[in-house]
Amino acid sequence: MTSLFKAALILSGAVNGVQAWGSLGHATVAYVAQHYVSSSTAAWAQGVLNDTSSSYLANIASWADSYRATSAGKWSSSFHFIDAEDNPPSSCNVDYDRDCGSSGCSISAIANYTQRAGDGRLSSANVAEALKFLVHLLGDVTQPLHDEAYKVGGNEINVTFNGYSDNLHSDWDTYMPEQLIGGYALSDAQGWANTLIGEITSGGYKSEAASWIKGDTISDPVAAATRWATDANAFVCSVVMPDGEAALQTGDLYPTYYNSAIGTIELQVAKGGYRLGNWLNMLYTSKVAKRGLEGEEDSASHFDLLGRDFLPKPRPLSRAKLARMAMEGSCCGTEEHRH
Ligand SMILES: [Zn+2]
Ligand SMILES: [Zn+2]
Repeated sequence: MTSLFKAALILSGAVNGVQAWGSLGHATVAYVAQHYVSSSTAAWAQGVLNDTSSSYLANIASWADSYRATSAGKWSSSFHFIDAEDNPPSSCNVDYDRDCGSSGCSISAIANYTQRAGDGRLSSANVAEALKFLVHLLGDVTQPLHDEAYKVGGNEINVTFNGYSDNLHSDWDTYMPEQLIGGYALSDAQGWANTLIGEITSGGYKSEAASWIKGDTISDPVAAATRWATDANAFVCSVVMPDGEAALQTGDLYPTYYNSAIGTIELQVAKGGYRLGNWLNMLYTSKVAKRGLEGEEDSASHFDLLGRDFLPKPRPLSRAKLARMAMEGSCCGTEEHRH
């Protein structure tokens, strides 16, 4: 890509605004996952989504963000993050009982929608909704600032990136990935996914990819999702704000900070896609395919389909949870910070 063409693409983003990881990150996670699902899993997902195109997961990867932005979908806004009430940069950690709010969080939602996607009692519309949430949320949980309460996940950390005044959360979701790739169309996402798949297959990620899914089991989705959130949250201390908030506000984050962060962004998007592919394969094999076997007991019939049994015990609201409530259902400030 010539730099002039690249500049034109970035400029067109300035005119149209970004669609809100942003749509590029989520679609890339989806394309990576599509590469790793089995043909049986793919056929099941295409049937559920009623989409046999080569972008069946990428096409719905940002549905949950659009849904959250509607009045009908506002109830689901807390599913996009877990507000870890740790103390970056000196201490980073996720505690499910401490951090998952009473209306749910990414971890409880991943657990619930895993259960619902595999349950034979639900309508096809409900199963499609569950799959759409999973494709999105397994991406969100790898974005470090979706696993952090500090300044509402960095939404309230005002910074300058490449000449624009915005916030740290939006830069991680959208603007740093777009700076790397030069656009946010599905074709851009497919191209980025191909690069990441190459790294997983025979490049720099080859030796570590197995560790990204180590221990993941569909029978304990809270443990798996907590591990993913903990893994991403650790980067808040080491990469996102290693020297604290003030150090991010002394000048433009481009190029020095961008260069320090972009490798982690690529790594996390690759992880999200690899985990999603594996998760859908396990969901298909141990839930969907088994259901068709005669005489097989439907273990899902023991579950609460609303996922209430996954939530931690209720407790008083912390200051971080109150700050999140004040955002009134928004999780990310991208609407007001268009480049
Ligand atoms: Zn989201
Ligand atoms: Zn976000």
